Amino acid sequence: MFKHFLLIFTNRPSAFALVILGLLFSIVGLFIQYEFERTAEKAKQDAQIKLLTLAARLEGEIHTDTMVLRALEATILLHDHYDHAEITSMISHYQKTRPSIRHVALAPDLKIDLIHPMKGNEAAMGLDYRKVPAQWAAVQKAIENRDMMVVGPINLVQGGTALVARLPVFLNDSSDSLWGILTGVFHDQILFERAGLNKGFDGFDIAIRNKNNGSQDWKVFYGSGSTFTENAVTTRITVPGGEWQIAAMPSGGWQANDEQAIKFWLIGIVVSVLFSLAAYFIVTNYREKLLAIQTANHRANYDVLTGLSNRYHFSQLLDQAIQDHQRYQHQFAVFYLDMDYFKEVNDEWGHHVGDELLCLFAERMKQNVRSDDLIARIAGDEFIIVLKNMGSGAESEILAEKLKKELGEPYYINGQYLSVTHSLGVAMFPDDGLTMDMLLQNADRAMYQAKRDGKNRITFFNNELNKEVQRHVQVHNDILKGIIEGQFELFFQPIMDLNSGGMPKCEALIRWNHPEKGLISPFHFIPVAEQTGAIVALGNWVLEECCHLLSRMKDQGLEINISLNRSVAEFQPNDADSNWMDVLNHFGIGPEELVFEITESLLMDGAESQLDKIHRLRDKGIAFSIDDFGTGYSAINYLRNYPVDYLKIDRSFIKDILVDDQDRTLVEVIIKMGQTLGIKVVAEGVEEEAQLDMLKQFGCDYVQGYLLGKPMPYDQFVELLKLGSK
Ligand code: C2E
Ligand code: CA
Ligand code: CA
Repeated sequence: MFKHFLLIFTNRPSAFALVILGLLFSIVGLFIQYEFERTAEKAKQDAQIKLLTLAARLEGEIHTDTMVLRALEATILLHDHYDHAEITSMISHYQKTRPSIRHVALAPDLKIDLIHPMKGNEAAMGLDYRKVPAQWAAVQKAIENRDMMVVGPINLVQGGTALVARLPVFLNDSSDSLWGILTGVFHDQILFERAGLNKGFDGFDIAIRNKNNGSQDWKVFYGSGSTFTENAVTTRITVPGGEWQIAAMPSGGWQANDEQAIKFWLIGIVVSVLFSLAAYFIVTNYREKLLAIQTANHRANYDVLTGLSNRYHFSQLLDQAIQDHQRYQHQFAVFYLDMDYFKEVNDEWGHHVGDELLCLFAERMKQNVRSDDLIARIAGDEFIIVLKNMGSGAESEILAEKLKKELGEPYYINGQYLSVTHSLGVAMFPDDGLTMDMLLQNADRAMYQAKRDGKNRITFFNNELNKEVQRHVQVHNDILKGIIEGQFELFFQPIMDLNSGGMPKCEALIRWNHPEKGLISPFHFIPVAEQTGAIVALGNWVLEECCHLLSRMKDQGLEINISLNRSVAEFQPNDADSNWMDVLNHFGIGPEELVFEITESLLMDGAESQLDKIHRLRDKGIAFSIDDFGTGYSAINYLRNYPVDYLKIDRSFIKDILVDDQDRTLVEVIIKMGQTLGIKVVAEGVEEEAQLDMLKQFGCDYVQGYLLGKPMPYDQFVELLKLGSK
């Protein structure tokens, strides 16, 4: 999963960079939001602390201002009377340090008896509070409260605003011991200034409100009422006999301002873009490295000029091939090719022609081997081919010959045709070496031998093999030649029906009338033909000849069913079955007139494609018989699954049927088995009457053997048939 993603991004660095950019933008957005909330919270906390300090200062200023009243109260209570001069001097003394003290009035029995300073306050002298309704209520409240009460700011008759503190003075604890009242009037603005209300709150709106004279409603007396919102920070100020509330609110709100947001965004964008670019370059770089590694890998494994595997890569493939072939006990061939006179080509035509030649040579090699064979360029003009799954040395010899011919055809280079020959050394696994080194060394040696022997030739490393290969190749070529020259002949051996005693069948058996060696038994050339592949051509000839002779017999009114031997290799060509059917049609032979004898190994080990052909032919009507039954797998258990109509019990069992209990039992079992499965049983190699009797007794269907007739030439067989039909 992760790898998959990695691959997608590795291939699209820009997509990757965009994804990173998107992610980073989201992160920046979230960060900015978080940062704003955080700064807002922080600003509130800071403001709260400042506001608390401010409130304390205000409280302190009011407290200090009103100290003057407390001092006067103490003096009055101490002396029971007061001296005007002393009081005036006291007030003056306080006023020096507290400029906010506007004036102070003493009102024994609630009538103003002393005001200091007098200037500007003359009108109030002698004023009886009881007779001034505007003030009487407040004075009464203070008396009720038995303590100082501060009200205001109020508008003064004299102009401006002020705070007014009233302190009732009692001589003792009883309520009727009221001496009078002390009043202090304070310049609120000076007081606020001293408290620092205007300092240290830049960018903030400050407002203060109070509830006067027991009113339930707040009255704002400093700043704007709109400052008191839910978002503002507020705190209380305790004033004697009342409560104030102070609020602070930044003029632009708590959020960081737009300028800050823009700054954040700009930094965020720059950082995101930089990171995305970095991601882009990292991925591109990684991709380049990956490509470089891939190229390097390719270079490390393949020849740059021809694209073939190099020695290193090849040795690995060969190792694998050795393991595989060891496991399945198969042979393979190692071809070591070296061009003849390549140096001369280079010298005469130049390196570019030499290079071109090597490429075309390599290309042609590829075209002439199977796709799973291995080809490598080992050095300059030296190549190695590994041909897998070789049936025999002869097969590789035939392929080598074919390759030699193909590679020897002219090459068109630079407007002209050029021909090269090569020397080829062959080593076979496992006979010529079990290890890679051994095989390459021996193939190389064989190639040098080919060079020494005059170049442009094929040499096998193994001398013995070399000889046998030579012989096989000889036989192969002789067979092909023999077919053309008509050296082959079909003999027929009768097969008797034990139920009717008639002779409805025969087996066609090939004979080779070699011009020098005389009549050769199929035992000597069929196995070779099977190995070299000549069996395909030979088999085709047999079928054609058989159909031809059968049609001739039919022309003479003779009725017979012919069994033909088909080797495994004959089922290999893709069009084998359709070709055969064409032959039958050509000669007007019906499929039911023929039986194909095959070996059990074809049924057991045959490739899917080979079995398919058997099924197709059988569907068409050709009967199939298992030849030499009992010698191979004798997989009696599998019989029911085989697509066959006949079983042919091998001669070796019939031979000893009279003397060997085991053989006799086996023959009997096979016959019984055949009966149950509906497969007809033929016994071959019947030479004695007693054998025939026993087979009859077992219920065998057909017999074949010298007792009834040896394989004989066509004419003789026709005579026999005519005799039988009379
Ligand atoms: P096969 O198919 O088992 O053929 C029977 C062989 O037994 C024949 O040998 C035949 O002559 C021999 N024979 C028949 N009756 C007797 C007998 O009573 N006693 C003895 N001792 N031998 C008997 P032949 O003709 O030499 O053929 C040998 C083998 O060559 C055949 O064995 C078959 O496998 C192969 N063969 C022959 N003709 C062809 C052919 O046209 N195509 C293919 N692929 N193989 C063929
Ligand atoms: Ca046979
Ligand atoms: Ca046989």
